[in-house]
Amino acid sequence: MELTNIGTVKDILGRHGFSFSKGLGQNFIIDPTICPRIAENGNAAPGWGVLEIGTGIGVLTKELALRADKVAAVEIDSRLLPILEETLADFDNIKIYNEDVMKCDLMGLIQREFDCLRVAVCANLPYYITSPIIMMLLESRLPIESITVMVQKEAAQRLCAQVGTRESGAITVGVNYYGTPKKLFGVSRGSFMPSPNVDSAVIRIDLNKEPRLSAEEERFFFRMVKSGFSQRRKTLSNALSSMMGIGKQEVYSALSSLGLPESARIEQLDMDRLIQLSQLLMNK
Ligand code: SAM
Repeated sequence: MELTNIGTVKDILGRHGFSFSKGLGQNFIIDPTICPRIAENGNAAPGWGVLEIGTGIGVLTKELALRADKVAAVEIDSRLLPILEETLADFDNIKIYNEDVMKCDLMGLIQREFDCLRVAVCANLPYYITSPIIMMLLESRLPIESITVMVQKEAAQRLCAQVGTRESGAITVGVNYYGTPKKLFGVSRGSFMPSPNVDSAVIRIDLNKEPRLSAEEERFFFRMVKSGFSQRRKTLSNALSSMMGIGKQEVYSALSSLGLPESARIEQLDMDRLIQLSQLLMNK
Protein backbone atom coordinates (compact mmCIF):
# COMPACT_ATOMS: atom_id res chain seq x y z
CA MET A 1 0.00 0.00 0.00
CA GLU A 2 1.49 3.35 -1.07
CA LEU A 3 1.05 5.59 1.98
CA THR A 4 2.43 8.68 0.26
CA ASN A 5 -0.09 8.53 -2.57
CA ILE A 6 -2.64 11.25 -1.87
CA GLY A 7 -5.49 9.25 -3.43
CA THR A 8 -4.67 6.18 -1.32
CA VAL A 9 -4.36 8.24 1.85
CA LYS A 10 -7.66 10.04 1.24
CA ASP A 11 -9.35 6.71 0.53
CA ILE A 12 -8.12 5.09 3.78
CA LEU A 13 -8.91 8.13 5.90
CA GLY A 14 -12.34 8.49 4.28
CA ARG A 15 -13.26 4.83 4.77
CA HIS A 16 -12.38 5.13 8.47
CA GLY A 17 -14.12 8.50 8.88
CA PHE A 18 -10.85 10.02 10.13
CA SER A 19 -10.45 13.80 10.45
CA PHE A 20 -7.11 15.44 11.29
CA SER A 21 -6.61 16.79 14.80
CA LYS A 22 -4.71 20.07 14.77
CA GLY A 23 -4.34 19.85 18.56
CA LEU A 24 -2.42 16.58 18.23
CA GLY A 25 -0.08 18.03 15.60
CA GLN A 26 -1.32 15.69 12.88
CA ASN A 27 0.51 16.56 9.67
CA PHE A 28 1.25 13.34 7.81
CA ILE A 29 4.15 12.96 5.37
CA ILE A 30 3.13 12.55 1.72
CA ASP A 31 6.51 13.13 0.04
CA PRO A 32 7.79 9.62 -0.79
CA THR A 33 11.47 10.56 -0.42
CA ILE A 34 11.33 11.72 3.23
CA CYS A 35 10.62 8.59 5.28
CA PRO A 36 13.28 6.40 3.62
CA ARG A 37 15.81 9.19 4.33
CA ILE A 38 14.78 9.45 7.99
CA ALA A 39 15.02 5.66 8.37
CA GLU A 40 18.39 5.41 6.64
CA ASN A 41 19.89 8.27 8.65
CA GLY A 42 18.24 7.17 11.89
CA ASN A 43 19.92 3.79 12.50
CA ALA A 44 16.96 1.74 11.28
CA ALA A 45 19.09 -1.30 10.38
CA PRO A 46 19.64 -4.96 11.27
CA GLY A 47 20.51 -5.34 14.97
CA TRP A 48 18.51 -2.27 15.92
CA GLY A 49 15.15 -1.68 17.58
CA VAL A 50 13.47 1.62 16.75
CA LEU A 51 11.10 3.52 18.98
CA GLU A 52 8.76 5.72 16.95
CA ILE A 53 6.67 8.50 18.49
CA GLY A 54 3.42 9.29 16.68
CA THR A 55 2.68 6.87 13.83
CA GLY A 56 -0.04 8.73 11.96
CA ILE A 57 -1.14 6.20 9.35
CA GLY A 58 2.23 4.41 9.52
CA VAL A 59 4.13 5.97 6.62
CA LEU A 60 7.41 6.21 8.58
CA THR A 61 6.67 3.13 10.71
CA LYS A 62 6.67 1.02 7.56
CA GLU A 63 10.05 2.32 6.35
CA LEU A 64 11.54 1.70 9.79
CA ALA A 65 10.14 -1.83 9.92
CA LEU A 66 11.58 -2.62 6.48
CA ARG A 67 15.09 -1.90 7.81
CA ALA A 68 15.22 -2.50 11.59
CA ASP A 69 14.68 -5.78 13.46
CA LYS A 70 11.82 -4.36 15.50
CA VAL A 71 9.72 -1.20 15.72
CA ALA A 72 7.74 -0.16 18.79
CA ALA A 73 5.59 2.91 18.25
CA VAL A 74 3.66 5.06 20.70
CA GLU A 75 0.57 6.77 19.27
CA ILE A 76 -1.89 8.71 21.40
CA ASP A 77 -4.85 8.77 18.97
CA SER A 78 -6.92 5.58 19.24
CA ARG A 79 -8.80 6.49 16.02
CA LEU A 80 -5.60 5.57 14.13
CA LEU A 81 -5.46 1.98 15.43
CA PRO A 82 -7.90 0.40 12.93
CA ILE A 83 -6.14 2.30 10.14
CA LEU A 84 -2.73 1.00 11.25
CA GLU A 85 -4.07 -2.56 11.35
CA GLU A 86 -4.81 -2.16 7.67
CA THR A 87 -1.74 -0.20 6.55
CA LEU A 88 0.80 -2.27 8.49
CA ALA A 89 -0.89 -5.66 8.03
CA ASP A 90 2.10 -7.10 6.13
CA PHE A 91 4.55 -6.59 9.03
CA ASP A 92 5.16 -8.87 12.01
CA ASN A 93 7.90 -6.77 13.62
CA ILE A 94 5.81 -3.76 14.69
CA LYS A 95 4.18 -3.21 18.07
CA ILE A 96 1.86 -0.22 18.58
CA TYR A 97 1.26 1.25 22.03
CA ASN A 98 -1.84 3.45 22.24
CA GLU A 99 -0.44 5.85 24.84
CA ASP A 100 0.69 9.40 25.46
CA VAL A 101 4.47 9.29 25.06
CA MET A 102 4.87 11.72 27.95
CA LYS A 103 3.15 9.27 30.31
CA CYS A 104 4.43 6.01 28.86
CA ASP A 105 6.91 3.78 30.73
CA LEU A 106 9.53 3.93 27.97
CA MET A 107 12.18 2.09 29.99
CA GLY A 108 9.79 -0.86 30.44
CA LEU A 109 8.80 -0.70 26.78
CA ILE A 110 12.43 -0.75 25.63
CA GLN A 111 13.32 -3.67 27.91
CA ARG A 112 10.29 -5.66 26.75
CA GLU A 113 10.54 -4.97 23.04
CA PHE A 114 14.23 -4.48 22.30
CA ASP A 115 15.99 -7.17 24.33
CA CYS A 116 19.62 -7.39 23.07
CA LEU A 117 19.03 -4.82 20.29
CA ARG A 118 20.65 -1.41 19.98
CA VAL A 119 18.01 1.29 20.34
CA ALA A 120 17.26 4.40 18.28
CA VAL A 121 14.35 6.85 18.26
CA CYS A 122 12.90 8.05 14.95
CA ALA A 123 9.89 10.31 14.59
CA ASN A 124 8.08 13.06 12.81
CA LEU A 125 7.28 14.78 16.09
CA PRO A 126 3.98 16.48 16.92
CA TYR A 127 5.13 20.10 16.94
CA TYR A 128 3.12 21.20 19.97
CA ILE A 129 5.39 19.15 22.28
CA THR A 130 8.69 18.90 20.41
CA SER A 131 10.92 20.29 23.16
CA PRO A 132 9.25 18.45 26.08
CA ILE A 133 9.55 15.14 24.20
CA ILE A 134 13.22 15.69 23.31
CA MET A 135 14.13 16.77 26.86
CA MET A 136 12.17 13.85 28.36
CA LEU A 137 14.04 11.40 26.10
CA LEU A 138 17.39 12.91 27.07
CA GLU A 139 16.76 13.32 30.79
CA SER A 140 15.26 9.90 31.40
CA ARG A 141 18.58 8.23 30.57
CA LEU A 142 17.05 5.57 28.40
CA PRO A 143 19.48 3.17 26.66
CA ILE A 144 19.06 5.08 23.38
CA GLU A 145 21.97 5.75 21.01
CA SER A 146 20.37 8.27 18.67
CA ILE A 147 17.28 10.43 18.25
CA THR A 148 16.38 11.32 14.65
CA VAL A 149 13.40 13.62 14.44
CA MET A 150 11.55 15.97 12.16
CA VAL A 151 10.87 19.28 13.90
CA GLN A 152 9.90 22.80 12.82
CA LYS A 153 12.72 24.56 10.97
CA GLU A 154 13.08 27.19 13.73
CA ALA A 155 13.25 24.48 16.41
CA ALA A 156 15.95 22.71 14.38
CA GLN A 157 17.96 25.92 14.21
CA ARG A 158 17.72 26.37 17.97
CA LEU A 159 18.52 22.73 18.74
CA CYS A 160 21.52 22.64 16.40
CA ALA A 161 22.86 26.13 17.19
CA GLN A 162 26.36 26.42 18.58
CA VAL A 163 26.40 26.83 22.37
CA GLY A 164 27.86 30.25 23.16
CA THR A 165 26.08 32.10 20.35
CA ARG A 166 22.95 34.28 20.30
CA GLU A 167 21.04 31.53 18.49
CA SER A 168 21.48 29.14 21.42
CA GLY A 169 19.03 28.62 24.29
CA ALA A 170 18.58 26.39 27.34
CA ILE A 171 17.45 23.54 25.08
CA THR A 172 20.60 23.93 22.92
CA VAL A 173 22.70 23.48 26.05
CA GLY A 174 20.53 20.54 27.17
CA VAL A 175 20.91 18.73 23.88
CA ASN A 176 24.66 19.42 23.72
CA TYR A 177 25.10 18.22 27.29
CA TYR A 178 23.56 14.82 26.53
CA GLY A 179 24.86 14.39 22.99
CA THR A 180 25.81 15.89 19.64
CA PRO A 181 23.05 17.37 17.47
CA LYS A 182 23.28 17.72 13.70
CA LYS A 183 20.88 19.07 11.11
CA LEU A 184 20.42 16.47 8.36
CA PHE A 185 18.08 18.06 5.77
CA GLY A 186 15.26 20.53 5.31
CA VAL A 187 11.67 19.56 4.42
CA SER A 188 9.21 21.97 2.81
CA ARG A 189 5.68 22.47 4.16
CA GLY A 190 4.25 21.01 0.94
CA SER A 191 5.56 17.56 1.96
CA PHE A 192 2.72 17.13 4.47
CA MET A 193 -1.03 16.57 4.52
CA PRO A 194 -2.48 18.86 5.69
CA SER A 195 0.27 21.35 4.92
CA PRO A 196 1.47 23.24 8.06
CA ASN A 197 2.29 26.97 8.08
CA VAL A 198 6.01 26.39 8.56
CA ASP A 199 8.84 24.45 6.97
CA SER A 200 10.57 21.62 8.80
CA ALA A 201 13.94 19.95 9.16
CA VAL A 202 15.23 16.56 10.22
CA ILE A 203 17.93 16.48 12.89
CA ARG A 204 19.83 13.67 14.58
CA ILE A 205 21.20 13.73 18.11
CA ASP A 206 23.90 11.14 18.82
CA LEU A 207 23.82 10.50 22.55
CA ASN A 208 26.88 10.32 24.80
CA LYS A 209 27.54 6.90 26.33
CA GLU A 210 28.52 8.27 29.74
CA PRO A 211 27.14 11.25 31.68
CA ARG A 212 29.55 14.19 31.85
CA LEU A 213 28.66 15.08 35.46
CA SER A 214 27.47 13.32 38.62
CA ALA A 215 23.73 13.45 39.32
CA GLU A 216 24.19 16.24 41.89
CA GLU A 217 26.46 18.28 39.61
CA GLU A 218 24.02 17.79 36.77
CA ARG A 219 21.10 19.16 38.83
CA PHE A 220 23.11 22.26 39.74
CA PHE A 221 24.29 22.69 36.15
CA PHE A 222 20.74 22.69 34.76
CA ARG A 223 19.46 25.02 37.49
CA MET A 224 22.21 27.44 36.52
CA VAL A 225 21.52 27.09 32.78
CA LYS A 226 17.75 27.57 33.21
CA SER A 227 18.28 30.57 35.50
CA GLY A 228 20.76 32.15 33.12
CA PHE A 229 18.57 31.71 30.04
CA SER A 230 15.38 32.82 31.80
CA GLN A 231 17.07 36.23 32.02
CA ARG A 232 19.40 35.91 29.06
CA ARG A 233 19.70 39.64 28.40
CA LYS A 234 21.00 40.25 31.93
CA THR A 235 24.56 39.64 33.02
CA LEU A 236 25.17 36.23 34.55
CA SER A 237 25.90 37.81 37.93
CA ASN A 238 22.51 39.57 37.95
CA ALA A 239 20.62 36.54 36.66
CA LEU A 240 22.22 34.04 39.04
CA SER A 241 21.98 36.29 42.08
CA SER A 242 18.29 36.97 41.51
CA MET A 243 17.29 33.44 40.44
CA MET A 244 19.59 31.29 42.59
CA GLY A 245 20.61 33.62 45.40
CA ILE A 246 24.31 33.34 44.55
CA GLY A 247 26.30 36.43 45.58
CA LYS A 248 27.43 38.65 42.70
CA GLN A 249 31.00 38.63 44.00
CA GLU A 250 31.05 34.83 43.85
CA VAL A 251 29.89 34.93 40.25
CA TYR A 252 32.49 37.62 39.40
CA SER A 253 35.34 35.61 40.89
CA ALA A 254 34.22 32.39 39.15
CA LEU A 255 33.96 34.27 35.83
CA SER A 256 37.33 35.87 36.34
CA SER A 257 39.03 32.54 37.02
CA LEU A 258 37.67 31.42 33.63
CA GLY A 259 39.07 34.55 31.99
CA LEU A 260 35.60 36.06 31.49
CA PRO A 261 34.48 39.66 32.22
CA GLU A 262 31.98 40.59 34.96
CA SER A 263 29.56 41.61 32.21
CA ALA A 264 29.41 38.10 30.70
CA ARG A 265 25.97 36.82 29.70
CA ILE A 266 25.03 33.15 29.55
CA GLU A 267 24.73 33.07 25.76
CA GLN A 268 28.43 33.99 25.49
CA LEU A 269 29.71 30.86 27.26
CA ASP A 270 30.49 27.68 25.33
CA MET A 271 29.73 24.22 26.70
CA ASP A 272 33.05 23.66 28.50
CA ARG A 273 32.92 27.11 30.12
CA LEU A 274 29.32 26.53 31.28
CA ILE A 275 30.31 23.24 32.90
CA GLN A 276 33.40 24.79 34.52
CA LEU A 277 31.37 27.74 35.81
CA SER A 278 28.74 25.49 37.38
CA GLN A 279 31.42 23.43 39.09
CA LEU A 280 33.13 26.52 40.46
CA LEU A 281 29.84 27.95 41.78
CA MET A 282 28.67 24.64 43.20
CA ASN A 283 31.87 24.14 45.16
CA LYS A 284 31.91 27.63 46.69
N1 SAM B 1 4.60 9.68 11.67
C1 SAM B 1 3.45 10.19 10.96
C2 SAM B 1 3.90 10.88 9.69
O1 SAM B 1 5.08 11.22 9.61
O2 SAM B 1 3.09 11.05 8.78
C3 SAM B 1 2.64 11.18 11.83
C4 SAM B 1 3.38 12.39 12.31
S1 SAM B 1 2.32 13.63 13.00
C5 SAM B 1 3.36 15.05 12.81
C6 SAM B 1 2.45 13.40 14.77
C7 SAM B 1 1.77 12.13 15.32
O3 SAM B 1 1.97 12.12 16.75
C8 SAM B 1 0.27 12.08 15.13
O4 SAM B 1 -0.10 10.80 14.65
C9 SAM B 1 -0.32 12.32 16.53
O5 SAM B 1 -1.56 11.71 16.73
C10 SAM B 1 0.78 11.76 17.41
N2 SAM B 1 0.84 12.33 18.77
C11 SAM B 1 0.53 13.59 19.15
N3 SAM B 1 0.74 13.75 20.48
C12 SAM B 1 1.22 12.55 20.94
C13 SAM B 1 1.61 12.10 22.24
N4 SAM B 1 1.58 12.91 23.30
N5 SAM B 1 2.02 10.81 22.36
C14 SAM B 1 2.06 9.98 21.27
N6 SAM B 1 1.69 10.37 20.03
C15 SAM B 1 1.29 11.64 19.85
